[in-house]
Amino acid sequence: MGVPTLGCRCAVCKSADPRDQRTRPSVLLAYGGRNVVIDTTPDFRFQALRAGIDHLDAVVYTHGHADHILGLDDIRPFNLKQRGAVPIYAAPETIGILRRQFAYIFEEAKPGATVPLIDLHTIDGPFDLFGVRFVPIPAMHGPDPVLGFRIGKMAYLTDFSQVPDSSKALLRGLDDFILDALRYVPHPTHSTVEQSLALVAELKPKRAWFTHICHDLGDAETNARLPANVRLSHDGLQFEVEL
Ligand SMILES: [Zn+2]
Ligand SMILES: [Zn+2]
Ligand SMILES: [Zn+2]
Repeated sequence: MGVPTLGCRCAVCKSADPRDQRTRPSVLLAYGGRNVVIDTTPDFRFQALRAGIDHLDAVVYTHGHADHILGLDDIRPFNLKQRGAVPIYAAPETIGILRRQFAYIFEEAKPGATVPLIDLHTIDGPFDLFGVRFVPIPAMHGPDPVLGFRIGKMAYLTDFSQVPDSSKALLRGLDDFILDALRYVPHPTHSTVEQSLALVAELKPKRAWFTHICHDLGDAETNARLPANVRLSHDGLQFEVEL
């Protein structure tokens, strides 16, 4: 929902710490002059401006929930500037949701209308993007499937409640593991701080970064309670990874 959360007056929502202001979850992978975004959140336009990206080479989707897809319309300026479609990678279920939520993208273009131009690719296994291998990490998000991605020595796994053993095998030997940790209180479709700490202890990445954090967790006080190699991520956080 983002922090501050609309209508909320809690301490984290009223916090003056800029790290307590959170847009919806997404990451930008910049390598070899390419910009690849995982998920286009409702904040995508603002996030792209903040990151200063002047081109977009591909979008990879984790799943089709509103907080991960609704910024798709805002790729249009990149279509115009780049004079072409942006490659989109998503699982079949997510493509089905994109077709429903963005029906106008798939209909015959109306004269004079500018709609996002996308080049759809179905994820059915590992794929290469500009020379880098993306390995899908299937997990469950409550009753629904979600994909994480391993890219070199890093992995991004948001919006999960359960990770099967076959996927855990793909998450060993990581330098950086970015994973969902919504709050302390159990949630039917998200991992809690306790559950995510247990997964980190099991998989032993060098560093772990919690994401998809709700307003229950203040940045400073939560980080003070976490192990040194586990941090809450924050908007604008950047680090280098080995691809
Ligand atoms: Zn709040
Ligand atoms: Zn979700
Ligand atoms: Zn989400």
